Amino acid sequence: MKITDAVRSLKGVGDKTEKSLNKLGIFTIEDLIEFYPRGYQSYEAPVYLSDAVPEKRQAIIGYLHRGLVRIPGGRVEKTSGTLIEDGRRLQLLWYRMPYLKKQIISGKNYIFYGTVKTKNGQWTMEQPEVYEPEAYEKLQSTVQPVYSLTEGLHQKTLSKLIRQVFDEDPLFEEYLPEDLREELKLSEYNYAVQNIHFPENREALGQARRRLGFDEFFLFALAIQRMKHFRERSENRHRAASLTWAGAFIKGLSYTLTGAQMRAWEDISRDFSGDHAMNRLLQGDVGSGKTVLAQLALLTGVQAGYQGCLMAPTEVLARQHYESFVRDFEKFREDTGINIRCGLLIGSMKAGEKRRIYAAAASHEIDILIGTHALIQEGLTFENLGLVITDEQHRFGVNQREWLSGKGRTPHILVMSATPIPRTLAIVLYGDLDISVIDEFPARRKPIKNCVVDTGYRPAAYRFIEKQVREGHQVYIICPMVEESEMMDLENVIDYTDRLKNILPPHICVEYLHGKMNGARKDAIMERFRDNEIQVLVSTTVIEVGINVPNATVMMVENAERFGLAQLHQLRGRVGRGEAQSYCIFVQSGKSDRSKERLEILVHSNDGFYIAGEDLKLRGPGDMFGLRQSGLMDFHIADLYQDGDLLQMAGDCAKKFKNELPENLERRMNRYMLMAGKDIVL
Ligand code: ADP
Ligand code: MG
Repeated sequence: MKITDAVRSLKGVGDKTEKSLNKLGIFTIEDLIEFYPRGYQSYEAPVYLSDAVPEKRQAIIGYLHRGLVRIPGGRVEKTSGTLIEDGRRLQLLWYRMPYLKKQIISGKNYIFYGTVKTKNGQWTMEQPEVYEPEAYEKLQSTVQPVYSLTEGLHQKTLSKLIRQVFDEDPLFEEYLPEDLREELKLSEYNYAVQNIHFPENREALGQARRRLGFDEFFLFALAIQRMKHFRERSENRHRAASLTWAGAFIKGLSYTLTGAQMRAWEDISRDFSGDHAMNRLLQGDVGSGKTVLAQLALLTGVQAGYQGCLMAPTEVLARQHYESFVRDFEKFREDTGINIRCGLLIGSMKAGEKRRIYAAAASHEIDILIGTHALIQEGLTFENLGLVITDEQHRFGVNQREWLSGKGRTPHILVMSATPIPRTLAIVLYGDLDISVIDEFPARRKPIKNCVVDTGYRPAAYRFIEKQVREGHQVYIICPMVEESEMMDLENVIDYTDRLKNILPPHICVEYLHGKMNGARKDAIMERFRDNEIQVLVSTTVIEVGINVPNATVMMVENAERFGLAQLHQLRGRVGRGEAQSYCIFVQSGKSDRSKERLEILVHSNDGFYIAGEDLKLRGPGDMFGLRQSGLMDFHIADLYQDGDLLQMAGDCAKKFKNELPENLERRMNRYMLMAGKDIVL
């Protein structure tokens, strides 16, 4: 077996499995091994029935007074027994497992592992896993990986395939020089990948995580370093000294710019007339008002005679920008007589329309082109492109730069991001970008009202939601999972939507949205939500940063304890965008004081930077069993907030490899740059 062999060469991989694996980006053995678990499950200590809680996956220890019995009737054979303790009863129910009658002996202790559900006022646990106490104890000392999978692929299948690879000799070459590893106390690569998938124990997992987390940052830092090289000191070929149009635009606004917006604008306009092309990151929390700065920059470029483009990560965001630009520039034309020509380019447009846009960009009949990242880069040419703005994207990478340099005339680059990265980290991450920070909010109409509640509050929340909808408003509900998972007892959008449809009156339209839906379906749902055809949208965190539906006034987040605070803060930015009072309800399941304390930070602060910092302090470095904080940056193992020290170390370390890399490391880095694909994550 070679690491470059196709996954197909593994035993048990047929057409169907191969297809599912490919869907996850797994083509080779190496890809498979680098598909790290999303989280880990550990078996917690069993509780007695008297301490059990409903609606939670848990291990309950106890014995049956009487043996299991077969329940007559029904198409599927059912076997059942009852645990009784202190007057509490729990019905255990298995389907198609008659042989358990012989295996489970009355009077002997077992651990029953499953979810306690309430049915007709009775507690039941369906299909519990059964362990003898000694076996369970052994399990407790292990940690099980949990992978993010697509349909048709099971956790067990994936685990088995990975095991198959590890059953061979150690396959992987160490690519970090030994002295470096020693100095930084990092474990060896083979040890690390084995333990990230199948941790011997928590200590080993910690070591593995540290090593691979370092690698992610290190390769990333090396890649950035290389890209920097690419762009060193490109000359400013697109001078734009006159700011009169921008001045007129500012005058025409219905509000005055905040001090922070003004400062950012000064930075940007200074770049326009500087010696080098602009290469700037505009960082500002959700709602801080970045869009108007993009408009000013683009307008100034157009005044100087060149074209600009604005790239958004999704069609919905692109369209939203386009519509607001057309509106704002129409007003500008009424005020000044100057006509700015905008175009939109998104995937769902007809081929003919796209061709027309291509032609118009090439002949400079369009001044400003707005579209999705992917499309703007495909086969598009401009007559004279001088400014490229990327919105809500923390990715900015090799391909993009190659694409730009392919256009010949190094345009100005402005990257806009709402990710609250502490400044020290930003310097490592964005090394070659100048940074402007918008650290001041426009006077908000009404601050969002927040609360942290437990699941018992749901009925009241639904009544509240109903009332808000009656007043004409809309609602987001966020769940952490797409569909039911055997490994984790978390709310999922599909079941939740079904439930909610029954709870809310029929005239309220409830729909769901998640990342596994295809783009067109996602966009269709978003559009119907924007048009208020859908009143309640149940979604995973795919609700994009930047989406603007001012009529939405309630955001309810289920399993709030599962999310990073920074992420919750960004989600919360979807409401509070209109005139009406908005509300955010964080529902925590379980009663942990620590998670309540964490969530309370959100209630008291609206400052993304502060929140990210506090989150880091509270979570501390030990929280490796939680779900990876997803959505902000695509590091698989490392966490920007939690692993600040690793990042720092990796950044420093990369500097030692300024010129040439050892062969192994070079290969590794090339692979990394390739995998990071169109975007090295910035
Ligand atoms: P983001 O930084 O999240 O992209 P937007 O640019 O979408 O934020 O701005 C959010 C809202 O605030 C928009 O409706 C915008 O018109 C408004 N806005 C921007 N700047 C100001 C300001 N200085 N005063 C009042 N409202 C503003
Ligand atoms: Mg925005």
